[in-house]
Amino acid sequence: MRLETETHELERLAKAFQIISKETSYRGLAEALLAEALHHSGAGRGGILLSEGGELLAKADASFPREKARFFVSHPPAAEFQLPAELMERVLRRQEAVVTQAPREKSALIDPNEQPTQNINQLCLPLVHQECTVGVLYLESERDEHIFTPRCVWVMSMLASQAAVSFESVRLFEALRETNMWMVKGQEIGCMGSYRWNTRTLLSRGSREWYRILGLDPNVNPVPFQALRDRIHPDDLPALEHALAEATSKQSSFCGEYRVIHNDGVTLHVVAVGQFDTGPTGDLELEGIICDVTAQKAAEQALTDARAGLARAASLASIGELAGSIVHEINQPLTGIIMSAEACLRWLRRNPREPEEACKSAMRVIEQATRATDVICGLRSLVRDAQPRFAEVDINEAVDEILLLSRRELERARITLRTEFGKSLPNIEADRVQIQQVVFNLVRNAIEAMAGLERKSHVLTARTTLRDDRMLVAITDTGAGIDPAKRERLFDALYTTKRNGIGLGLSICRKIINLHGGHLWVEDNKTSGATFAFLLPVRQPSQTPGRV
Ligand code: ADP
Repeated sequence: MRLETETHELERLAKAFQIISKETSYRGLAEALLAEALHHSGAGRGGILLSEGGELLAKADASFPREKARFFVSHPPAAEFQLPAELMERVLRRQEAVVTQAPREKSALIDPNEQPTQNINQLCLPLVHQECTVGVLYLESERDEHIFTPRCVWVMSMLASQAAVSFESVRLFEALRETNMWMVKGQEIGCMGSYRWNTRTLLSRGSREWYRILGLDPNVNPVPFQALRDRIHPDDLPALEHALAEATSKQSSFCGEYRVIHNDGVTLHVVAVGQFDTGPTGDLELEGIICDVTAQKAAEQALTDARAGLARAASLASIGELAGSIVHEINQPLTGIIMSAEACLRWLRRNPREPEEACKSAMRVIEQATRATDVICGLRSLVRDAQPRFAEVDINEAVDEILLLSRRELERARITLRTEFGKSLPNIEADRVQIQQVVFNLVRNAIEAMAGLERKSHVLTARTTLRDDRMLVAITDTGAGIDPAKRERLFDALYTTKRNGIGLGLSICRKIINLHGGHLWVEDNKTSGATFAFLLPVRQPSQTPGRV
């Protein structure tokens, strides 16, 4: 019979443990512990005081002021909780379970409306976790002076120690929840999500923001690779898969930039980075973050568009202006020459001839022709005076800036950009703006050479390298290439095959490169397209610029 009772009691205790362990908040835990303690002991009144979350009371700290308490719960509700000094010393400092009898006014649960009656029986237990008192469980009873038997005290101690462990779990859980909340908020504000991708199973897991950026269903976890592939812009997929395969095979860090298309058609620009390590299952995993850079991209694009527009407008305006002034300046003497020559003929055809007048007209022809020559010489010296201003130039940086400027046009024409920049190249002595003007022209020509052509994929390659102590810059396209018969004519001023072309770009480019003591040429590619390349001396022979 005794065995049966004990088994029954243990069962009830196990159930109580379960109830307590399920609690994930301080208040819930304190209330559950008190309810179980009152129920199992049969005491009529009780209270629990839990200490501040992170600040567990040290063993030596006998004070347990109410203000320091995180939670106080009691049944029935009491106005205050105050342990008598003796109990405080024994329970808090010495961590003893104390059973006493005391007059009513010595109750820890103070109720101003309560009339002192008879003595009360008290049981007070410390909640101890890793030698720290983290709270107190207090029970009292008026009716039965033998209520707190050694067996009851044992059961209450068991409950109290279980509660102390649960209390620590709640503390950790809260800390975790707080950290997680910070992370989620931080990722949301920074438009940044984190992910892990298993290279064997091809399954991915990620944070809430990762799901948002990729437009994935948050209920799907882990996410199959196909679901990710479906989100990526088809034009960006080959490059991304290539970068991913390369990073995986070398286990090097991964970096990719691509567009993501959501179901509703919204397109986001994303930058992803990651590093490989071994996951919990022993598989190789890529762990990293993705950033939604759509807003930055839009701003950057607006700036690029504005700059490109400005550059185009400026070059067109200056070319237009130049052409206008040439026409204006030359037209006048040419008309004069024609008129004077006609007059000269008329004087000579007269009967009798008027050689003197004819002579005057011929003189005027010479005058006008001299004037036309002067105008041309003036224009030439004007161009010649636009001498380069040499300074140290990081060629990769200068070329890269132009590529950035041309990015929108490349994207629009669906051209893939490849850069093969030489490493540790020396700075060159050059006019940065003029060299950029040349690269800008070559890139624009290359884009135009590919834009109209029907082909699956087009590639523009920008290359920089040292060749025989000179800097080589080459722009290669996969366009139609150059007709060998016309190769040298391309560099003639006003030669163009484009409907809206002006035919001054390449001649100006060659002029600039010549002024730098360099050389600009074109060659046909082995497969398709053309390569325009120029060589520049790293150092200028003297401080005086080169001549045409
Ligand atoms: P424009 O671009 O105004 O025609 P350019 O002097 O820059 O003037 O170019 C002259 C011509 O050279 C072009 O009209 C075109 O026929 C040819 N050309 C220039 N770059 C390329 C290229 N990358 N591929 C094929 N042809 C080109």
